[in-house]
Amino acid sequence: MDFELDKDLLALKESVQKVVQETVAARAGELDEIGGYPWDIKEAFAENKILAIPFPKEYGGTGGTALQMCIATEEVSKASCSVAMILTGQCLGSAAITIAGTEEQKQRFLPDLASGKTLAAYGLTEPDAGSDVASLQTTAVRDGDDYVVTGTKRFITYGDIADVMTLFVKTVDPNTKEKKVSCLVAEKGPGWIVSKLEHKIGIKGSTTTELFLDGLRVPVKNLLGKEGDGFKIAMQVLDKTRTTIAAQALGMAQSALDCAVQFAREHLEGGKPIGRKQGIQMKLADMEMKTQAARCISLFAADRYDHHDPNQSRYSSCAKAFATDMAMEVIGAAIQVLGEYGYTKQYPVERMFRDAKVQQIYEGTNEIQRIVIARSLLGKGF
Ligand SMILES: Cc1cc2nc3c(=O)[nH]c(=O)nc-3n(C[C@H](O)[C@H](O)[C@H](O)COP(=O)(O)OP(=O)(O)OC[C@H]3O[C@@H](n4cnc5c(N)ncnc54)[C@H](O)[C@@H]3O)c2cc1C
Repeated sequence: MDFELDKDLLALKESVQKVVQETVAARAGELDEIGGYPWDIKEAFAENKILAIPFPKEYGGTGGTALQMCIATEEVSKASCSVAMILTGQCLGSAAITIAGTEEQKQRFLPDLASGKTLAAYGLTEPDAGSDVASLQTTAVRDGDDYVVTGTKRFITYGDIADVMTLFVKTVDPNTKEKKVSCLVAEKGPGWIVSKLEHKIGIKGSTTTELFLDGLRVPVKNLLGKEGDGFKIAMQVLDKTRTTIAAQALGMAQSALDCAVQFAREHLEGGKPIGRKQGIQMKLADMEMKTQAARCISLFAADRYDHHDPNQSRYSSCAKAFATDMAMEVIGAAIQVLGEYGYTKQYPVERMFRDAKVQQIYEGTNEIQRIVIARSLLGKGF
């Protein structure tokens, strides 16, 4: 057991740090102010193969592991969670193809996604189906060689700019008439309508959309797996990507802690740095303990995913819930250490606080993570 990053992980961390310093660090505040997708940063991520990390080598990726995704995501999130979503969103939107695609489907979609030529979205959530995935209503009806898709998807990251979407629908079994959750790779075209752009409190440099799917045609050859495999695929994707949400939270918590430590050294009260006060020291120590614990649980979960551990799903949920709850505590404490300055835009901790909140919600709320964890402990029948 080795708690040091090996040579390759260290090199990855340093190379991502360099790109982040050059392209993201100075822009994070501005992105939060103006919103929208930073295309130039996406290009820099594509050029530097950061975007290629989650894709297998044979399809133009770097063949990155879940652990590598976490290391890279943490580094980007230290500067901007919105920008980290460029990487994690591409991973989320394409993972179903990597996991369940045929060779032909992988050849058709993955190289362009790995190079950043195309962007992906993940279309699961609906107005009445968030936590309860099985109750989704979007239907895909066979018409010749196509499915015709009708329904509404909500809160879809990059639904406006994505070229393809791994889309979860209900297909109808022609014999039994039973409706089954299935996963299609939808390509942007007539019937893919962006009906709303959400106005959010945070991660403003990433777009969140409502999509009205009005007779969108998807070729039958774009079905991933078999009809009825959709629920399993959706969960397999989240097992992988929830560790990246933990890494987003970790990056922001580390950055908030670093900011608080520096402030405690430099900010004077009565002529002395506030870091001399034991009350502040207690806070910093708690923040450090929590951040370290979150790093351990997150990297452990990613490592277990990479090793196909039978409990990987439980570990991913543990990491996602623990690290994202921790981030809210640590970033909140950082604001407290900074006092009135923490509540202003002069320091990045207020942005981190707004950005971190969503991580307790998306990719399954932390209540749902706890249900996943408990059911995995209790076994069948719960
Ligand atoms: C910024 C943003 C980006 C997103 N991006 C995407 C995306 O790209 N693709 C996508 O498909 N979705 C996306 N989502 C949707 C997100 O995954 C859902 O919001 C999330 O899964 C929760 O679903 P919901 O909002 O419908 O909450 P609901 O299911 O309505 O839950 C409401 C509350 O009830 C609680 N609750 C529900 N069921 C239970 C239960 N059984 N036990 C205890 N508590 C329960 C929840 O924890 C929550 O607190 C995004 C959301 C946001 C905010």
